[in-house]
Amino acid sequence: MKYKRILLKLSGEALMGERQYGIDPKRLAEYAYEIKQITDKGVQVAIVIGGGNIFRGVAGASKGMDRVQADHMGMLATVINGLALQSALEDAEIPTRLQSAVKINEVAEPFIRRRAMRHLEKGRVVIFGGGTGNPYFTTDSAAVLRAIEINADVILKGTRVDGIYTSDPEKNADATKFDFISFDDVLRKGLKVMDTTAFTLSQENELPIIVFDMNKAGNLLKVVSGESIGTQVNL
Ligand code: UDP
Repeated sequence: MKYKRILLKLSGEALMGERQYGIDPKRLAEYAYEIKQITDKGVQVAIVIGGGNIFRGVAGASKGMDRVQADHMGMLATVINGLALQSALEDAEIPTRLQSAVKINEVAEPFIRRRAMRHLEKGRVVIFGGGTGNPYFTTDSAAVLRAIEINADVILKGTRVDGIYTSDPEKNADATKFDFISFDDVLRKGLKVMDTTAFTLSQENELPIIVFDMNKAGNLLKVVSGESIGTQVNL
C-alpha cells in the first residue's frame, strides 16, 4: 500500500445515497465494505464526516437564525452521521472509535490526539465527529486539521465526481479532468476543491489531497495502493 495512514473525508450528502435527506443504510454498508478492503491490508484509517445531509449552519443563518447557533446544530449533525457510520463499520466487523470535538461523553469519546493515534496503531478506525468544535468552520477544515495532527500521509476526499475538472463536468461537457494539479494552480484557476481555509491549511502543511469518486466500488483501495485515479493536489 502506498499510504499507511490516511484521513478520509466524507460529506454528509454522500450518506444520503438516492434519498433527498438523511441517511441511506445501503450506502453506509457500501462504504463500510470499501473501508474494510483497506483496513484488511493494514492501512490506518481516520475519517471526518460532514453533516450537510442533516443540517448546514449557513442554511440556517440564511433563514435568519443566529449563525453560531446554526453551526452548533451542524456540528451535532456530524456526530449523528459519525454514530451511523460507526455502527455500519462495526456491522462489517471493523473496530471503530468515535471521537467528538464537542464534548458529548455518553455518546462519543472526547477528541484526544494521542488517544486517537493509539487507536489507529491498534488497527481501529477513528471517526472524528463535531468538526473542529468551532462555529464558522467546515468539516473540510476539520479534516485537514485532524490529518495534520495525526500525521496522516494524505487526505482523501471521497466525492461523487471522479476528480477536479477545468469546470463543472455536470454543467459543461467540455470540462477535462486533471490527474495532478498544484495547490497554486487550483488557487490561480479559481477551482473549487475545498473551502479556502481548509485548502490553504493543507497547502501550508504540505499535505497532499486526492479527490476521487467514493461511490465506485474498489476505488478507495485503488487510491490507497497508489493507482492514479481521481486528481491529486500536490505542492
Ligand atoms: N460545522 C461547524 N464547525 C466545524 C465543522 C462543521 O460549525 O468545524 C457545522 C457547520 O454549520 C457546517 C455543518 O457543521 O455547515 C456541517 O458540516 P459541513 O457543511 O462541512 O458538512 P458537509 O458539507 O461535508 O456535509
